[in-house]
Amino acid sequence: MLRPLKSFDIKGQTILVRLDLNVPIINGIIQDDFRIKACLPTINYCLKEGASVVIMSHLGRPEGIYSDDLSLIPIGEHLASLLELPIKFSKDCISQDAIDTSLSLKPGEVHLLENLRFYNEEIQNDSVFSNKLSKHGRLYINDAFGTAHREHASNHGVVDNFKNFGIGYLFEREMKYLRDAINKPKKPLVLILGGAKVSTKLELIDRYVHQADSIIVGGGMAFTFLKAMGYNVGSSLVESKMISQAKNILETARKSGKKIILPNDVVCSDNINASSNGSVISVRDIPDGMMGLDIGPKTIEKYSNILTSAKTVLWNGPMGVFENKFFENGTKLIAEKLVQIVLADSTVIAGGGDTASALRHFKLEEKISHVSTGGGSSLELMSGNQLKAINKLEI
Ligand code: AMP
Repeated sequence: MLRPLKSFDIKGQTILVRLDLNVPIINGIIQDDFRIKACLPTINYCLKEGASVVIMSHLGRPEGIYSDDLSLIPIGEHLASLLELPIKFSKDCISQDAIDTSLSLKPGEVHLLENLRFYNEEIQNDSVFSNKLSKHGRLYINDAFGTAHREHASNHGVVDNFKNFGIGYLFEREMKYLRDAINKPKKPLVLILGGAKVSTKLELIDRYVHQADSIIVGGGMAFTFLKAMGYNVGSSLVESKMISQAKNILETARKSGKKIILPNDVVCSDNINASSNGSVISVRDIPDGMMGLDIGPKTIEKYSNILTSAKTVLWNGPMGVFENKFFENGTKLIAEKLVQIVLADSTVIAGGGDTASALRHFKLEEKISHVSTGGGSSLELMSGNQLKAINKLEI
């Protein structure tokens, strides 16, 4: 069992909270603050209940070396404006000064620690480092679902130093959907996969080839399957090393009476950065030199029809190169279809970083039952794997 934050009496306590504030930043400007906003319910709850909060997070991959570009300062400033509160900041996450600041916090105050990964000990799950981190609070709450597939000091080793530990609101919500709803899905269950690579989604396909009623494949990964079936795919994205695996998957699906559903038509161009509409071409006729960059209208219709009757949908990976407006249509129309079925009481769970950014791009994120903040961790959980940071929090 994972203990939720609301099960603790936190009044007057200092709570050490691991958040995932790893957001894209260019020249000090936050490009997308979804992960920061997703942490607000936990912070606000602690403050409302009369606790003080010490926040720790990583940002990027500094590999143990300080860099201005990966400082949490801009994130702290943004967080302060979202909370409408001044927050204290320590430029070293384990210094005695930082620990003293945490120990002197008053109820309702927030203290942010500098990027954990400025110490390599963080990713090494070093016990001395995690012990120092634990000095910041009396209760430990993990709300960093996005890093739950990692075994690091701030989400694993640190737990050994606390009598009381649990999960925050975001983590609780992620688990509710990704573990509970996926383990007991309402049927029909449809898996819809896209994006660039088959290799990263292989485990997911393996798990669902028996459980799902349909597996729909779009995006770049469809071409590895089409190639495995003997089609000429022009210069579309193909993972050559995965062709034999793709053949095995098609065969396993056939034997278990399931179908891997692939595009009939695709939108092609000779350039991924094209600045004009592509041509709609049947997957049987893709000429050399052309690449499929989106699913075509017949495919969108076929996929939408399957989704109409689905009661649970797991979606991972865009249907095309949605970042280019000439190839966004498939992803957009499938996302709109998913919104429709959510309104008709189906559950749609979207995971993977690019799927979440596609939904935000089309302003549909709020209309999907659950959009996971974790790319790697949601994929692992959906694939049925145990996550070490989660096991560590089980009581
Ligand atoms: P992934 O991380 O595997 O989910 O891949 C996401 C990326 O796949 C996005 O950046 C898309 O632009 C890209 N993508 C989707 N469809 C295609 C395609 N047909 N060809 C090349 N890239 C694609």
